[in-house]
Amino acid sequence: RITTSTFRNAPGLWRTRWPDHDPGVHKYARGAVAVAAGGLSGVGAPRLGARAALRVGAGLATIICRPEALAAHAARGPDALMQRAAADPAAFEAMLSGGKVDALLIGPALGLDDEARSWVAAALRGGHPCVFDADALTHIGAQRPAFPDLLQQRPGPAVLTPHEGEFKRLVADAAGFDPERGKLERARRAAGLMGAVVVLKGPDTVIAAPDGRAAINNTGSSALATAGSGDVLGGIVAGLLAQKMPAFEAACAAVWLHGRAGETSGMGLIADDLPEALPGLLAEVE
Ligand code: AMP
Ligand code: MG
Repeated sequence: RITTSTFRNAPGLWRTRWPDHDPGVHKYARGAVAVAAGGLSGVGAPRLGARAALRVGAGLATIICRPEALAAHAARGPDALMQRAAADPAAFEAMLSGGKVDALLIGPALGLDDEARSWVAAALRGGHPCVFDADALTHIGAQRPAFPDLLQQRPGPAVLTPHEGEFKRLVADAAGFDPERGKLERARRAAGLMGAVVVLKGPDTVIAAPDGRAAINNTGSSALATAGSGDVLGGIVAGLLAQKMPAFEAACAAVWLHGRAGETSGMGLIADDLPEALPGLLAEVE
């Protein structure tokens, strides 16, 4: 049943679902995040996502990349990060189903070629809690209706994190998405259509769930309009999903934290600073 309600995004909205690890927890129980990456032309974006996932408390993070990018990923921090190469979509799918993956982030610098499209198809067929961002959203929009249908049918929770440009590509010419409609209405409609939590980013980010719940965010600053900022947000969502937070609450918490992290400095802020601000912010919500 659709329960259309709109909230102000604040810790009270999601704190009761915040990950609660007992003192005897081990790293595997804190959740393993996999980040699907692309080739050599984009090694930074997936790494920002993986770093954010670790900083928000996931126990493990692994970048799965094309073979040619493995050495580049291995040469860069954080040192805790693991790397694996997948030679083809079948290898990628096998890593998802065979390995320990509690949540997946796919999209940042993934690529727009056929290989990348097949990785998105594998993620859509898999049941892991999954964040679809950036290039993954472009693939989903370009493969309508097949990919949106897979998304609607997939058993695991999904969070989509489009900015306005990606949102346009995602919904393409579907009815009811005229730009003059408000952000809240468009996000809610997309969430229902896709069967996924939709985070429509920008100033006043809206988070909408398929059940009609929606929240309007009020943290953040224009310093967040910087390269890699959204990749960090995707990693925060994935890190919280891996720690078993439900999708709507994970998305709301991530957007709130990301915004607060963006308030920690002025226009000199770069995306690499955002994960580093998380430990201090976690102390506020825990
Ligand atoms: P992306 O475009 O994927 O790098 O994502 C940018 C991130 O920064 C999103 O989380 C946006 O909500 C946030 N952001 C971008 N511009 C602004 C702005 N002017 N004010 C507040 N947040 C912003
Ligand atoms: Mg982005």
